[in-house]
Amino acid sequence: MIGTLSTALSSLKSATDLVKTALRERDDRLIDKVIGDMNDRMIDVQNQCLALQEQQFALADSERELKEKLREQERRNADLENYEPHRTARGGLTYRQKTGLNAGQTPIDICANCAAKGIKTYLQPKDDGFNLTCSTHGDIPSDKVREPGPVGAVGYGGGHDPYAS
Ligand SMILES: [Zn+2]
Repeated sequence: MIGTLSTALSSLKSATDLVKTALRERDDRLIDKVIGDMNDRMIDVQNQCLALQEQQFALADSERELKEKLREQERRNADLENYEPHRTARGGLTYRQKTGLNAGQTPIDICANCAAKGIKTYLQPKDDGFNLTCSTHGDIPSDKVREPGPVGAVGYGGGHDPYAS
């Protein structure tokens, strides 16, 4: 784009030089011709400038978009700093809330795989709380451990094994 503008500008310069020659030689026909030529070159330069301006606007737009994306990512990263890696009692890896907790409040777990990509996904309990689940990454074993049954009891709570799946 800059190259095209340079070409248009040097054509304009050549036309200007020709005008000077025509004026020096007082050649009316040559003067008319080179003035017409010069006007054409001026239009070329103007068109190139407009094209450059459009390109500049497009660049400014994409810079604005990129800055907004960066700010969004920085907000997410700052939010993720409220969480830290946590190994659940049954070996699952989550990111657990470490700040902003009120007294008696249970910390929130988010998906560690999502967090690694800068995405915050709340883990939802399933299977009576024995697993936490991410809509993208599936189930993660939770902190909930099976209570030992009463002495002499057969099975646990009606024979449903929450580990089986
Ligand atoms: Zn996930």
